[in-house]
Amino acid sequence: MSIKNNLKNIKSVLPEHVTLVAVSKTKPVNDLMEAYNAGQRIFGENKIQEIAEKYEEMPKDIEWHMIGHVQRNKVKYMSGFVSLIHGVDNFKLLKEINKQAKKSERVINCLFQIKIASEDSKFGMTPEDASNIIQSKDFSELENIKITGVMGMATFTDNQSQIENEFKQLKSTFETLKVLNTNNCKLETISMGMSSDYPLAIDCGSTMIRVGSSIFGHRSYKN
Ligand SMILES: *Cc1c(COP(=O)(O)O)cnc(C)c1O
Repeated sequence: MSIKNNLKNIKSVLPEHVTLVAVSKTKPVNDLMEAYNAGQRIFGENKIQEIAEKYEEMPKDIEWHMIGHVQRNKVKYMSGFVSLIHGVDNFKLLKEINKQAKKSERVINCLFQIKIASEDSKFGMTPEDASNIIQSKDFSELENIKITGVMGMATFTDNQSQIENEFKQLKSTFETLKVLNTNNCKLETISMGMSSDYPLAIDCGSTMIRVGSSIFGHRSYKN
């Protein structure tokens, strides 16, 4: 199967309100260009150095999404171009994104990563953390970020009903937080679903799926 055909197959089953992020981490620019030439314009990476390098090399009409865990001291390397940061899981990080966005005279869209998985290894905040941040005075003063939704990762398991429960949890967190509409917080995006579980995620209300291996093939981590 070619990257082009993989993309076509996935897109043929996507409802119109669902955005596809092509997760290209570890893949060479040639592979990304194949997706680009097939019409794909949104790419997701999980390492700041890699997203910055690929941004330099590729056409400038691409939307770059940071989907991985973000280290505060590296925000500055992507703040000039990143379109959406999916993994915001604490206020200090949000403040740093705001600071760097201001330097670049931009407003950077962000998602709050909510912990829905039962594994300890997954990052994310509780719905209460998110709610407290949105309602705080410190948050209201951040003019160069905008919270546009929530993101979550289900537990790595074959248990479909567990995954379904976790997705439903994220959807209900989204609905709860959505009423806290402020200048810099207008929730419209639910980022959930990957290669193995995106059809279920869409059934549970996802509006943005992050798909890697089903488009680009399996990743080999050599380094
Ligand atoms: C790698 C990754 C994906 C894509 O995973 P696939 O199983 O290859 O589709 C989605 N979301 C995040 C946060 C990732 O790190």
